[in-house]
Amino acid sequence: MKKTQSSPKSKQGKNAAKTEEATSPTTPLVEDPNMASVSPDLVSQADESGKPKKRGVPEGLWQRCPGCQAVIFRKQAEQMLSVCPECDYHWTISAQQRLEQVLDTGTFEEWDANLTSLDPLGFKDKKAYAERIVSEQRRTGLRDAAITGCGMIRARRVAIGVTDSAFIMGSMGSVVGEKLTRLIERATAQDLPLIIISGSGGGARMHEGIYSLMQMAKTTAALAKFHEAGGLFISVLTNPTMGGVAASFASLGDLIFAEPQALVGFAGPRTIKATIRIDLPDGFQTSEFLQEHGFVDRIVPRNKLKLEIARSIDYCGK
Ligand SMILES: [Zn+2]
Repeated sequence: MKKTQSSPKSKQGKNAAKTEEATSPTTPLVEDPNMASVSPDLVSQADESGKPKKRGVPEGLWQRCPGCQAVIFRKQAEQMLSVCPECDYHWTISAQQRLEQVLDTGTFEEWDANLTSLDPLGFKDKKAYAERIVSEQRRTGLRDAAITGCGMIRARRVAIGVTDSAFIMGSMGSVVGEKLTRLIERATAQDLPLIIISGSGGGARMHEGIYSLMQMAKTTAALAKFHEAGGLFISVLTNPTMGGVAASFASLGDLIFAEPQALVGFAGPRTIKATIRIDLPDGFQTSEFLQEHGFVDRIVPRNKLKLEIARSIDYCGK
């Protein structure tokens, strides 16, 4: 089996992650020109009448809300943290945007920015995994599906991790697992409140097989130690949080917050319906449904997230 790597450097095995020489030890939240600032469902809509788009109209000046179908001026939605002013629909946002929204300006210090996946299985679907990693990196400006580090939330220092659903559906491979585990371990050592904001529709990353599944146990074990040390973990579930991510760290918060109408679950509703052959209840796998059934503690709209996290940290005396 040929072992392809996404970069000529480094051969290293155990957790199929590697560290490249640090190009930037701390990466501030600068806009990367390659960064997809808008998620795929943020449809640009230059023409309301449904005619072909006119030339010369800037891409993405308007966007159609998937919640209420209204055509929204993009700047206005951005000012509202990518929430629809008409119906409160929460667009998927990038990890970078999330950090900018939640942290005090200029306080983010990134950890383990240079971890990149290897291809331990020589996996290939429509394209080789090694190639997929490189193309996803180019497309999203991310190294992998998680960003971790520390920063301040209303002047409270926290350890924070965010997964980004734009990078292979935010799935957890060995890099995401390793970065989150290191984050949790540092939060334990430095006695910091831990915040992980999940946006992972992909669950575990099948391209890495068993390595990917091992990350569930690894992150969970690190969280158990964090818990024993008396740490506060706030898990924030955003649309979508599914599969192996929902089945490991994302469900283990001392407090579990969720954005309104987020899809949260293990297998998707269609799969479940096809398997058990009964009609699923209304709102199945939404934040609201899960709050009603005791899985989610609080539904927090995006514009209140920073405040709610800060309040909870104070309330728990952290
Ligand atoms: Zn709307």
